[in-house]
Amino acid sequence: AKSLGRNNYQFFAPELDIQAHRRMSLELQLRRALEKGEFELFYQPLVTIDDGAIVGAEALIRWRHDEVVVSPNEFIPLAEDTGLILPLGEWVIRTAAAQASRWRHEGHELSVSVNLSPRQFVGQDLVTLLCSLIDAGEFEPGRLYFEVTESMVMGDLAQTQKIMGALRDLGIKFYLDDFGTGYSSLSYLKRLPIDGVKIDRAFIKDIVHDQDSREISSAIVSLANTLHLAIVAEGVETPLQRETLLNMGPMIIQGYLASRPVPASQFGLLLESGRID
Ligand code: C2E
Ligand code: CA
Ligand code: CA
Ligand code: CA
Repeated sequence: AKSLGRNNYQFFAPELDIQAHRRMSLELQLRRALEKGEFELFYQPLVTIDDGAIVGAEALIRWRHDEVVVSPNEFIPLAEDTGLILPLGEWVIRTAAAQASRWRHEGHELSVSVNLSPRQFVGQDLVTLLCSLIDAGEFEPGRLYFEVTESMVMGDLAQTQKIMGALRDLGIKFYLDDFGTGYSSLSYLKRLPIDGVKIDRAFIKDIVHDQDSREISSAIVSLANTLHLAIVAEGVETPLQRETLLNMGPMIIQGYLASRPVPASQFGLLLESGRID
């Protein structure tokens, strides 16, 4: 199913028919999956680097299809191309917000973050959606983060400022996701209501042995501290990576070292113990 990723199917003319056919059947399957409730959110903990306290969860979508759990890399690009990302993205927001308030009612103080596709930003009335969730008591202002990428905020800056400003007024917070990999324009960090940056796993991966990765990460940390932004290091897998980051100052870490993404019920068990050592 790798060949179904964005762009790939466009470049192999002889295979075009087959690819187009496959693409169409996958699109159909995705639509049915939404109707049949085959999507599920997994949650991965965000923990403080020094004591492993769980401060948040990133919601990551999965598709349970014929007993197989399909990764979002296999279907999000197509959902974005076809516009299916709009109903799918709305489902993600509703489900994550409902889960967040459930945990909150159980007495857990954590925030939940949701990934937004660029298309949702322009094609979806997120403000109205969020207002209806607030009215229904299904969303805790200040506890829901949207993870946006640099590519998303690069389009129409005035429009982006307007939407993000309105969402911020509703209590939404923003992480700039995959930070450092895109065409970062540092001015966006000041002009948009960003609350934190997530350092991409690409830098964390080699942070122990590669000086460049370490220096880039360290520079991002300094920048974020100067701008009073929260810092999340993504993809922390080993104690040594954690140790290296610990030397750069306080931050939040996310990665297999703390936990893989898990179903909501399993995440509930992690919350019962409150921290991950
Ligand atoms: P992302 O937002 O950068 O999410 C982080 C990815 O890194 C997740 O992959 C997560 O499982 C993986 N990860 C976390 N810790 C580690 C680690 O220690 N090592 C390694 N090797 N990987 C780690 P996942 O869940 O497969 O999601 C892939 C991408 O799909 C996400 O990247 C995000 O861009 C997209 N995605 C996921 N859920 C949604 C969604 O609900 N909506 C949208 N629009 N996109 C989503
Ligand atoms: Ca993310
Ligand atoms: Ca990321
Ligand atoms: Ca990523």
